[in-house]
This record gives sequence, C-alpha cells and structure tokens, in this order.
Amino acid sequence: MSHAIDISTDGVLTSDTHLIQSFANLNALKQEDARTVIVGAEGAHVTDSEGNRLIDGIGGLWCVNAGHKRQEIISAITEQLNTLDFYSTFYNFTHPAAAALARKLAELAPGNLNAVYLSNSGSVANDSAIRILHHYYNRLGQSSKKLILSRHGAYHGSTFLAMAMTTPAYSEGWSKAEGLVHHLRLPHYWREGEGMSEAEFLDVLLEDARTRIENLGAENIACFIAEPIQGAGGVIVAPEGYHARMSELCRRYDIKYIADEVVTSFGRLGHFFASKDVFGMQPDIITTAKGLTSGYQPLAATIISDEIHEVISEDGAMFFHGMTYSGHPAASAAALANIALMENDKIPERVRTTGKRFENNLRGLGDLELVGEVRGSHFMMGLEFVKDKEKRTPFAVTEQVGQKVAQAAQKRGLIARPLGNILILSPTLIMTEAEIDETTDILRESICEVQ
Ligand code: PLP
Repeated sequence: MSHAIDISTDGVLTSDTHLIQSFANLNALKQEDARTVIVGAEGAHVTDSEGNRLIDGIGGLWCVNAGHKRQEIISAITEQLNTLDFYSTFYNFTHPAAAALARKLAELAPGNLNAVYLSNSGSVANDSAIRILHHYYNRLGQSSKKLILSRHGAYHGSTFLAMAMTTPAYSEGWSKAEGLVHHLRLPHYWREGEGMSEAEFLDVLLEDARTRIENLGAENIACFIAEPIQGAGGVIVAPEGYHARMSELCRRYDIKYIADEVVTSFGRLGHFFASKDVFGMQPDIITTAKGLTSGYQPLAATIISDEIHEVISEDGAMFFHGMTYSGHPAASAAALANIALMENDKIPERVRTTGKRFENNLRGLGDLELVGEVRGSHFMMGLEFVKDKEKRTPFAVTEQVGQKVAQAAQKRGLIARPLGNILILSPTLIMTEAEIDETTDILRESICEVQ
C-alpha cells in the first residue's frame, strides 16, 4: 500500500495511515511525500525531516508567540511535573499553579474580567463561555435567552458548538446546531462595501445586527461572539469603531459580548489583550488560548466579568461544567512562565515596533499584480490574491493560488498558510528585523513566481 507506515532510514516517520490530520485532504495525504514532517524548532525557525531550516511564518498555528525552544517555559513545565504532575480542579480540589494563573489573568484582562475558567483549547473555551452564559441567564430566570449571534467569516473552533458559531462555509455538508446560532454580515469592507464609504458600510453592519436582534427578540438572545480581527476566516479587519459600536448595541439589548481573543491576545497585536487596548471596548467575556502558553502546552481560558461570576456563584447555583484537564498543572505552569517571559522581554511592547515593520513590509507587496488586498495588523496578516486587480475578481477556490504561493515560499525557506486564494502569516513574535525582511523578500519572489 502506498500509504503504509514508512519510516525512513534516519528513523523519521514520513507517512502514516493511522494519524488523522486536521483540516486536511486525507485522500491527498495518502501520497508519498505529501506531508511536511517537522522534527525540530528553535527561535523563529523550524527544521523539517529533510534537514531544511524554515522560517515559521505561522507560529506553529498562530500560537508560538514567544518563539520556539524557550528554556524558561520548558524548565517551568519540568519543575511543575516534578512537584505535582496532576491534580484536577474538580469539586473542592485546586492547586497552586492553576490558582496563580487565574489571578494573573485577572490582573491582565481589562476592567471587571476577574474570574477565570481554564480548559484545554480555544474551541472548549468558547463552548464554556456559552454554557456559562446559558447557566447565568437560567439563574436570572431568563431561560429563553439561549440564541447566539456570530458572524460570517468567523472561526471559533471545531467542537460541535464552536463549529456552529464558525462561518457556515466551514461546516457545509456537516451537521450543525440548527437554529441556535445566527450569523451576521461579513464585516469586510473591501469585498462587501462596494459603492459605500467605510463609515456607511459600518452603519449597514450595525443596522443588520439591530434588525436581526429585533426579529429574533432580545429576550431570546444570550450573546454576540466576535474575534477582534477575524483570523482563519481570512484575516478580516472590521471597519474602525465596529467593536465599540457593536458592544453598545449589545449592552442596549442586554446581550453579552464575548471577545474571542484566541489569536489576538498575548502580544500578537502588541498588547496582552486587544479588546480594550486596541479596539477600545470592554467585553463581558474574553476567551483565549494559543499564545497563552505560546503553544508549549494545550491550555485555554474563559475570563468572565464579576457580574456574571456573582450570579453563577450565588447560593443554590451548582456549576455543572468541567473537563478533567481544566487547569492542568503543567499547562498552568507553562502559561505563567510564558507570561513572565513576555513581561521580562517586553514582547508586546516590542511587537508595536517589529510587528508594525512586518505589517508595513507586507503592505508593500500590494504593488504586485496578483495581490488584491493586504490586510491585518502587526503579526496577524493576510494577502488575498485576485485574477483581476482592478475589478477585484476572485480566483475560483479550485485554483488554489494561496497553495501555489505557499509551496513556492516553502521551497525558499518560509512556511506560510494557504487558505483558498488567501495566504496567512502569523509568525512568532520574536522575529528580528532581518528575519522580517527575509520573510518579505521570500514572499515577493514566491508571488512573482506564481503570477
Ligand atoms: N477561536 C479562534 C479565533 C481561533 O483562531 C481558533 C483556532 O484557530 C479557535 C477559536 C479554536 O481554538 P483551538 O483550535 O485551540 O480549539
């Protein structure tokens, strides 16, 4: 069988029928050499099984914010495992690492977000936010408030509920939680705002939200969930002022605002959290994961307001929610060490300069014929390729232009992430100026090769 397990002479697994890979064309992976096998990593680079040293232009998966092989984080994990390998945070049990991490996150999160539920992935952090809000409204005697407003272009994860909140395009042909989630308009001015100013487009988005709320009935809606910048939907930045105005609208209708900061937190946009510091708004819940541990351990957090916390902790309320590994000691220790490292090295502050250089460099690629739009902010960027630049004519998805550019880039020593006809860049946040410039040069050459 061509896709049988195959261990090459140096002992590296290059092909395997047993591992089901995520978001992959499993049939295409049956081919020999279809995979890139990553065997090592250090700083801003990874090494593949062929011995190639590649710039990690996607930071693992938008997550290795502090860079690879940071001894501070690795030692903290080892030390924690030597002290307390595992205990749960179920019932009345707790342990110092989870408690200390929750306190630290409360200190970093904006405003009155002071209570922290720890879990293992961004998907579960988002599911947890919804379960907490349903419980909260039940406790208040408003049990009809269950519906969720999300948006086209959103990515909130891959559990059943998180995928239902994700843009419908991601779950075509798969079953979904019908009726529970309602998707508002895609907030992408460049594609959707033809014939309007950006301010007019913003009014259209707000009006769409308002009519949806009126039609569904605010008494039936629990929350609105939104990424500060949509990531896996194609790095879409909503018009200026969008989040602040959406949060005002939600407040007016008593709809809780969940900011999904799984990607935008822990320095990627130059701050620990982007909601308040970048977008000037105060959510009722923030969810985070990825950069929380810089990917060294799986960990996520759902950070809720004092007001919600008080209601779910009142006399008679029982919190029927929990995952065995919520607040795992080693993951909590990794997060604490990662945050300490970010504070000591001033990573978020540094990103305000280096991330801007990255963003400006990439914006410079907008002069290429193939590049329709360069979008994003700091170390969260996307390039959309078009057939006709002036008319913004999209390529058919099957043309896989993003894939072609990504392949050309990988040949030259850079990993970038294709998404149809978009290319996503979300590198480690510790890149030097030279590495940033090298990344840009590789991208320019790769796009020129394809166009
Ligand atoms: N939310 C956002 C904004 C994400 O980008 C992701 C993953 O990419 C998730 C949630 C899901 O996180 P996880 O893959 O850790 O479940």
